Amino acid sequence: METLKNPIIFQCIKCNTIISDSFFLSERLENTLLFTDAPNTVVDEAVKSVSEDDSLCTYKTLKCLCGEEVGKRYLTAGKKMSSCLGKYSVYIGSIRGYQLGTSAEHPVASFMSIPEICAEISSLQKFCTYLYDKIKGTE
Ligand SMILES: [Zn+2]
Repeated sequence: METLKNPIIFQCIKCNTIISDSFFLSERLENTLLFTDAPNTVVDEAVKSVSEDDSLCTYKTLKCLCGEEVGKRYLTAGKKMSSCLGKYSVYIGSIRGYQLGTSAEHPVASFMSIPEICAEISSLQKFCTYLYDKIKGTE
């Protein structure tokens, strides 16, 4: 599993404005990253509802200062999307990540979602149990 040493800033892919950074990052949810704040964005006034995924969700469109649509700000969310509530949900494809103090661009899509992290921990637990049994068997 990856450990983040230096903070990462997330920029608009179109104009390079810094939209948010890793201190505000809370989770990856499918093709979006959830941030607790996204300082350089504007939220649309109009409220739209998500019908294809969860009809209980309503959101406002999240835009970069350049006007590019970068994500959604959820106002209401169904059970499945409850972690999005009140957060800034930013499309992975709309941002690029830059890790401070490094010369490489940080791949935004490499962030793991909570279920992925749980799966990693679970397989690690199984491996530890397997090793423990092996060690016990040789005593
Ligand atoms: Zn922009």
